[in-house]
Amino acid sequence: MKSIQVVKVGSLRDPNPETRGQVKVVDIPEQVLGDEDVRIKVAYCAICGSDPHLVENIFGWDPPYGMGHELSGVITEVGPKATKKGLKVGDRVAGNFLHFCGTCYYCQNGQQQFCEHANESNNPGFSETIVWHESQVYKLPDDVSLKQGCLLEPISIAVRLMDKIDMKVGQRVAICGGGPIGLLSLQAIHMFGAASLTLIEPIADRRDLAIKYGADNVIDPITEDVVQRGLELTGGLGYDVVIDCSGNPRAAYPLPQITAKGGKLIYAAMYPNDWEMPLNLYKYCYYNELTITGLYVAPYAYPRAAQLLHRFQLDDFTTKVFELDDAVAAFDAQVTGKYPKILIRCNKIEGE
Ligand SMILES: [Zn+2]
Ligand SMILES: [Zn+2]
Repeated sequence: MKSIQVVKVGSLRDPNPETRGQVKVVDIPEQVLGDEDVRIKVAYCAICGSDPHLVENIFGWDPPYGMGHELSGVITEVGPKATKKGLKVGDRVAGNFLHFCGTCYYCQNGQQQFCEHANESNNPGFSETIVWHESQVYKLPDDVSLKQGCLLEPISIAVRLMDKIDMKVGQRVAICGGGPIGLLSLQAIHMFGAASLTLIEPIADRRDLAIKYGADNVIDPITEDVVQRGLELTGGLGYDVVIDCSGNPRAAYPLPQITAKGGKLIYAAMYPNDWEMPLNLYKYCYYNELTITGLYVAPYAYPRAAQLLHRFQLDDFTTKVFELDDAVAAFDAQVTGKYPKILIRCNKIEGE
């Protein structure tokens, strides 16, 4: 079957073709179906902000390796013991690229994100088919299309973020970074009922989307002073909840300064793994009592994400679609940052 694989590691933004990373459509065997697995004919798989980092090889894998974890599709085969969820051939599904073992200390301790046997090393979602354990798979509601369904994974991150911020209605919230996770989280927080909801984002189109999704204010960090403007917009108090979805060290650094006393600051992105951020512990942790935390993956969030999916405005995230054969062009488009989200169509499914 066809699958997009990383065949050479390196940055996709590297102007030098000798050292630039490379993805390619290759032919690989279909995965073996285990007793508790289902095979999914992939309809759409969206490019995640983390996928170009995988091409840069942040996890240190040996190429060639597969990518793609934000997918939807139709079940074509059900293992003989994949019977616990009532999954059937023909079901429209999406799911969690991680398979948690359910048995280790962390799985048993309500922390499956730290599962010691989670299988994430090879998720070739950008493929014609994929095999997942039934525990990873969720049926899509009838009113959700397969195009929208591939966004279940990023929406599960927004749901998990809501769990982590544990906010109260009417609290002041700022989000830094208007990529898909930032904008979907903004929608979730708006649904929940935030005040002074603000997006900090340098790209004008993304600021416009934030306003469309209910933001009260936007800040352009290129032309405005983020700290001054953030305090101005909150009557000098700062935000009760500040969330970084940018993953950008320069953007992440000033955020303690706009977090209100007693507030929560969540670094909810992937950061350069050797970057260390200076933090004045006296000011922010002792005197201002900030709670500072982060976010890795989305444990226990998928069933709620599936139930909430139809409430999200997803049209802006599903308009740019490439065919599987056009992988190189799709990844080139991804690194331009021009599109809120890019989808790859892995199979044409009738009626979709
Ligand atoms: Zn993702
Ligand atoms: Zn486990």
